[in-house]
Amino acid sequence: MRGMADAFAVDLDGVIADTTAVKAAWISANLGLSLEPWQCDRSTCVPLIGEDAYRAMATALWEREATELVRPVAGVLEALALLARQGAVHVITARFPERLAYAERWLAAHGADRLVRSVISSAGTDKAARCAQVGARVLVDDDPRHLGDTNPHAPEGLLLKPGCRGAVPAVPAGATLCRSWSDVLAHLGTPGSWQAARPGRDFPGLRPGD
Ligand SMILES: [Mg+2]
Repeated sequence: MRGMADAFAVDLDGVIADTTAVKAAWISANLGLSLEPWQCDRSTCVPLIGEDAYRAMATALWEREATELVRPVAGVLEALALLARQGAVHVITARFPERLAYAERWLAAHGADRLVRSVISSAGTDKAARCAQVGARVLVDDDPRHLGDTNPHAPEGLLLKPGCRGAVPAVPAGATLCRSWSDVLAHLGTPGSWQAARPGRDFPGLRPGD
């Protein structure tokens, strides 16, 4: 069992906000392809639908209306509340800075703004560098391109693929696959507060003693 980090870096799309479900719906409606939401991170999705289609989708979905249709990923609000008790939670997204306002509105609409210390864009740099800036030793992300850095100063990578039941083809070396927020919490350790959070109810996949 690992000790808790002082600070956590958490991706936004597909990790906090379930934009991958909206992407899968867009792909089905516009391209006639059936993808699982967990396949809709950029690195997995572009080889499947092409760069141009991905760009068109991203532009459409990052508009205000689409962003506000997005639901939270299962279990994330409870998980962020628990993580925020243990350390600072920083949202690090590859979205461009001019698109952060939508993200901040979405977090506020779901009561998550009070749980996060900052919302940061990694555009123009990489997430490991941003993690170093905020002192985060863990990065939870659904896109393998941001994980697997074996630099000793890089954060520990947790590849979160909510709802993925089959094998995931691209888990970077050094990263750990988590299929739910319950998996993330179980991997990071189990402070008493998590047990108090009614495992099996708040976190269906987290058993007492995990
Ligand atoms: Mg993402």
